[in-house]
Amino acid sequence: MITETAVLTANNEENEKILSRAAEIIRSGGLVAFPTETVYGLGASALDADAAAKIYAAKGRPSDNPLIIHLAKASDAAKYAYVTDAYEKLAGAFMPGPLTVIMKKKENIPDTVTGGLDSVAVRVPSNPAARRLIELAGVPIAAPSANLSGKPSPTSAAHVTEDLNGRVDMIIDGGSTQIGLESTIIKLDCEKPTLLRPGRVTLEQLTDLFGEVALDKAVTQKLTFGERPLAPGMKYRHYAPSAPLTLVDGTDEDFIGYVIGKSGDGVAVIACDEDKERLINAGFMPENVLTLGARADVVSHAASLFALLRTCDERNFTNLYAKLPAREGLSLALYNRIIKAAGYNVITVTRK
Ligand code: AMP
Ligand code: MG
Repeated sequence: MITETAVLTANNEENEKILSRAAEIIRSGGLVAFPTETVYGLGASALDADAAAKIYAAKGRPSDNPLIIHLAKASDAAKYAYVTDAYEKLAGAFMPGPLTVIMKKKENIPDTVTGGLDSVAVRVPSNPAARRLIELAGVPIAAPSANLSGKPSPTSAAHVTEDLNGRVDMIIDGGSTQIGLESTIIKLDCEKPTLLRPGRVTLEQLTDLFGEVALDKAVTQKLTFGERPLAPGMKYRHYAPSAPLTLVDGTDEDFIGYVIGKSGDGVAVIACDEDKERLINAGFMPENVLTLGARADVVSHAASLFALLRTCDERNFTNLYAKLPAREGLSLALYNRIIKAAGYNVITVTRK
C-alpha cells in the first residue's frame, strides 16, 4: 500500500481539502493517521467492523484490546452509549479534551471495536483538525495510538511514518502533539468512577468533580498472574526501549549520586536540564544525557517522554537510568508510562 502524507499548514483552504480527502478515505473503509492534542491516532470508521479490523492488522494489536471512538461533540455520545449524569458532568468540565469515558455501549458499535466488551470508550479531541476530520467523515472514528503495538505512542508524524508507512492510506502531519501522553481514561459503568489510565486530566481533578474516584491497580502496580486490568490494554508490554531501563526511587540527590556510579560506555541517563552539567562533569558523554526539560516543568516531561524513548532505541544504548516520577497530578501519568517502560524495574536508593 502507498501511504500519502499530507502536511497541515496555516492555509485553512488547503487544510480543508486535506481533511476532506481523509474523511473520504475513512468513509470508504480506509485508514488515516491524524494528530490529536495527546498523541497521533490511527483512525477508521467506528461503524464499520471490517475497517476497524484493519487497525488491529496495521498495528499488530491483539484483538481483545478495544479502541477509543472519537466524536466531534460530546452530545454525540448518546448515539453510541447509554450516557449518564456522571458523563454529562465530565463532558461539561473536560470536553473537548484529553479525557476518555467508558460507558455501556449501544448495539450500533461493532464488537471488533470494543474487543467483545459490552462497554465503549468515547473521547472528543480538542485538536481542531481532528474534530474537523470527524465532522467531515460523518461517522465516529475508532482510533488507538498510531504506533506499532508495543512501541511508544507517536508524538510526531515522523514517528507514525517510522511505524506505519505502507500500512495505512494516509498520514496527516499536524506537527508535534501538545500533551504527548495518551488521554486519561475513566470508567463509569461500575460501582464507583474508576481511573484506568492517568493523563493530562488528573486524578485530583476527577476527584474534585465526583468526591471519590477509584484507581485501578494496574495504573501503578504489576498485576500478578490471573489478575485482569479493567483496561485490557494495560496488561500488554508497552513503551519498552530495547535497552533495560532502571528507575531510581529516591531524592534528586540520591538519583544523581547513584547514576554517577554507573557511568560508562553505552550507559544513558534520562534526567532534567538542571542535572546535565553535573552528569557531564562526572564523566557522562553529553550525548548520553537525555533531558526531559526543567525539573519543575512536568508538562514538558510529558511532552518529551515518548520521543526520548524512541531516541534511546536509535542510539543503541546498553543501559538506561531515570528517576521514578512522583505519583501526583500529571506526574502520575509519567509514573504509569515509565514504570511500564522499565518493566517495573525500580531500585530504591537512600543516602548514607
Ligand atoms: P490507545 O488508544 O492505543 O491508547 O488504547 C486505548 C486504551 O483504551 C487501551 O488501553 C484499551 O484497553 C482502553 N479501552 C478502550 N475501550 C475500552 C473499554 N470499553 N473498556 C476498558 N478499556 C478500554
Ligand atoms: Mg496505544
